[in-house]
Amino acid sequence: MKTDPQSIVIGAGIVGICTALYLQEKGRQVTLIDRMAPGEGTSSGNAGIISVGSVHPEAMPGIWKEIPHMLLQRRAPISLRPAYLPHIIPWFASFLASSSVARADQSSVGISALSIRALDFLQPLVQKANATALLQQEGSIYVSETAAQFAAAKRNCAYYDRRGVDYQIIEGGELIELEPSLRPGLAGGVLVHAGGNSVSPLALSQSLFSLFQKQGGQFIQAEVTGFKTECNRVTAVQTDSDLPCLEVCVTAGAYSKTLAKQLGSAVLLDTERGYNIQLPTPGIKLKRPLLFGARAFAVTSMQDGLRLAGTVEFAGLKAKPNYKRAYMLAEQAAYLFPKLNTEGGEPWMGYRPSMPDTVPVISASPNYANVFFGFGHGHLGLTQAGVTGAMLSALATGDEPPVAVEQFRIDRGFFKDRV
Ligand SMILES: Cc1cc2nc3c(=O)[nH]c(=O)nc-3n(C[C@H](O)[C@H](O)[C@H](O)COP(=O)(O)OP(=O)(O)OC[C@H]3O[C@@H](n4cnc5c(N)ncnc54)[C@H](O)[C@@H]3O)c2cc1C
Repeated sequence: MKTDPQSIVIGAGIVGICTALYLQEKGRQVTLIDRMAPGEGTSSGNAGIISVGSVHPEAMPGIWKEIPHMLLQRRAPISLRPAYLPHIIPWFASFLASSSVARADQSSVGISALSIRALDFLQPLVQKANATALLQQEGSIYVSETAAQFAAAKRNCAYYDRRGVDYQIIEGGELIELEPSLRPGLAGGVLVHAGGNSVSPLALSQSLFSLFQKQGGQFIQAEVTGFKTECNRVTAVQTDSDLPCLEVCVTAGAYSKTLAKQLGSAVLLDTERGYNIQLPTPGIKLKRPLLFGARAFAVTSMQDGLRLAGTVEFAGLKAKPNYKRAYMLAEQAAYLFPKLNTEGGEPWMGYRPSMPDTVPVISASPNYANVFFGFGHGHLGLTQAGVTGAMLSALATGDEPPVAVEQFRIDRGFFKDRV
């Protein structure tokens, strides 16, 4: 085992793996630590969408009017465990504060700065890892089932116009031409041309991790429990032993809050738990991912089945999964795709690491000169992993980050306009 102080990256999800690879490009010796096998956490079960066109925050103006309906309707796309209510109140208050017209637009600037450049930074890693077969680039369609949804979707295209996203309005009939397995009679959709999807998010992380190891990276499977510090530097990362470090990147997804707190940064990170069910013999194949915003789930053809993934559940990191929410996805997909075979799916649950304003933390620590944070990517962690890795590695090595980092600061507030 190497014993010289290394760059240590905590968390081997897609964000940590990309960060480790970009640190290697800067010439660093890197140790990646995770208590699980690389890529097997939340990064394994997402919908696989490289959502270049995701420029809308979750906290959109007027969202407060929709939430009661989204929580209370049958097959609710959002659910809140009553026992978790007291814990989520500060996060939720900041979420609502972020939904003013001005604040939502500010968030959109941050999100789009990352999403639009997503492929510029993910693709080179994927190519180097010889894993291009795991990415396809046919864009994605945001489907509207009703005329009211379609009208709202068209209004929201103003965000695409402002952020320079290339899109196309698709009328109902054309929708079926593009994706013939969809139910006829749906109102329409918005096709975002750029971006695409991974046909296996787990295999993608694993391929990138293999590249990391081939390039001399070290992996330690262990739980990080704390840090040793001296003046304003972290000198060692603590697992069952102390690992001396040159610098530390915290990319531990939804679990980053505790680690950030140990490093003196209180952060309003919470988790929007999400579910998937992957159907092994669906009998249909989609050309590109389809997103059903009103139902809060997406459908993607993977290399080994059709994945239905999404919904939001506020219940924290400890409560047991409620897999009925995954089976509910299959029930809804059977309606949306009349020829779908829903037999044989295994349910899955993961923890989206979510900030109230939908903007991740990509930041130097205000307290320690050699600590850097990269977490809170919510619904867009796969999309934004490559660009986040490039930004963190630049911060760690004193270079200019490819995207300005000011708006991703860990110590930003949520109740006043940011300049
Ligand atoms: C249902 C669903 C669908 C989604 N669909 C999409 C999509 O289509 N496109 C998209 O871009 N994003 C999507 N996402 C979001 C995306 O999956 C996440 O944002 C992303 O996986 C977060 O990656 P990460 O590396 O930050 O976290 P993770 O994948 O959670 O990795 C963090 C790692 O840190 C480790 N860790 C934590 N604490 C410690 C510790 N103390 N010691 C050691 N190890 C530790 C964990 O074991 C874990 O492996 C979806 C999410 C869900 C749930």
